[in-house]
Amino acid sequence: MSVSAPITQDVHTIPRKLPEGPVNLVGMTRPAMRDALIAAGTPEKQAKMRVGQIWQWIYQWGVRDFDAMTNLSKTYRADLKEKFVIELPEVVTRQVSDDGTRKYLVRIAGGHEVEVVYIPEEGRGTLCVSSQVGCTLTCSFCHTGTQKLVRNLTAAEIIGQVMVARDDLGEWPEQGAPKNETRLLSNIVLMGMGEPLYNFENVRDAMKIAMDEEGIQLSRRRITLSTSGVVPEIERTADEIGCQLAVSFHATTDEVRDTLVPINKRWNIETLLAALRAYPRGRNSERITFEYVMLHGVNDSDEDARRLVELIGGIPAKINLIPFNEWPGAPYKRSSNNRIRAFADIIYKAGYASPIRTPRGEDIMAACGQLKSATERARKSRKQIAQEAGLAGQ
Ligand code: SAH
Ligand code: SF4
Repeated sequence: MSVSAPITQDVHTIPRKLPEGPVNLVGMTRPAMRDALIAAGTPEKQAKMRVGQIWQWIYQWGVRDFDAMTNLSKTYRADLKEKFVIELPEVVTRQVSDDGTRKYLVRIAGGHEVEVVYIPEEGRGTLCVSSQVGCTLTCSFCHTGTQKLVRNLTAAEIIGQVMVARDDLGEWPEQGAPKNETRLLSNIVLMGMGEPLYNFENVRDAMKIAMDEEGIQLSRRRITLSTSGVVPEIERTADEIGCQLAVSFHATTDEVRDTLVPINKRWNIETLLAALRAYPRGRNSERITFEYVMLHGVNDSDEDARRLVELIGGIPAKINLIPFNEWPGAPYKRSSNNRIRAFADIIYKAGYASPIRTPRGEDIMAACGQLKSATERARKSRKQIAQEAGLAGQ
């Protein structure tokens, strides 16, 4: 199926008249920041240059205080301070796993909380970013799917997750990280809570900021967006973001996929594969990642492996096998290691890379699909504390 390509354009998200109260500069695209500065009184002729200066302070140097922006005049800085803020989500808790994985619970406007996970690996470090609070989709093996959508994250809240992680890793140049050294935070995966393609504009704007050459400067090849298969937005992802794509495939027949990933009832395997075949590649090494969660007795037979290979024929792909991470009340069990290895072998012999994802940070409930449990556990313990306090007072 071909979907019509929307015209790529810069979206001006900020009206010419500023709303009441200080406005957060974080999360604005360059054109949006330009509009905001003009609305706040910056002469139009200077606006582009000012955006360039402020942008560098915020995204290259990690500066949060207008007073530190020493190439701006004192009066202009005072002006900015009155009308704008540089604000990030608040880090509520930070946990470090035995394997070095870090998990941050961050609080966003409205008191909602999302989790962000940093996974250090040999020669690179990946940040798993959330795009929504909860998820509207109801994949039956995913704990986030049991939580109703509360809201989409704003672009500020999405790029803010990257910025708080860089704060914690001490990776802004002014904090001493040499520019050319291997980055601690070198990759982003949009694989946290939520379906990124149901929050397209905010995800796009945040990733544009992450890729900007004068800021965080991550290559589009180091950003991977994972979708459950929102077919009409897949072409837009290529056109407007240009990042790598991962797809939560998880089954080889529509019958099984309908139950695991219910969005399949809307866009089935055939429709999804057609959209993936059309996904452009910058180079041969840019393959589509097929994520495949290994569920005991559900989707893990040799026959499934062979069918999978047949289905994806012709698509430059790698298959990421994810051992199912169990959560309380989950209706599935993880496939045995032998089963996973046998499955991987069939795929490998057919010519595809088939890495088995090692669960990371399990001791802090940071592994795929476990993110909601931790928040709930934290909530529960707070509730328990409150109850205990109440009892103690009686
Ligand atoms: N909504 C997007 C991105 C977030 S989920 C998507 O579905 O692709 C990131 C990955 O974790 C997806 O492949 C998802 O299927 C997988 N996942 C969810 N719950 C899991 C669990 N309990 N065990 C293992 N993987 C899980
Ligand atoms: Fe949502 Fe992805 Fe979980 Fe499905 S797997 S419920 S799309 S977060």
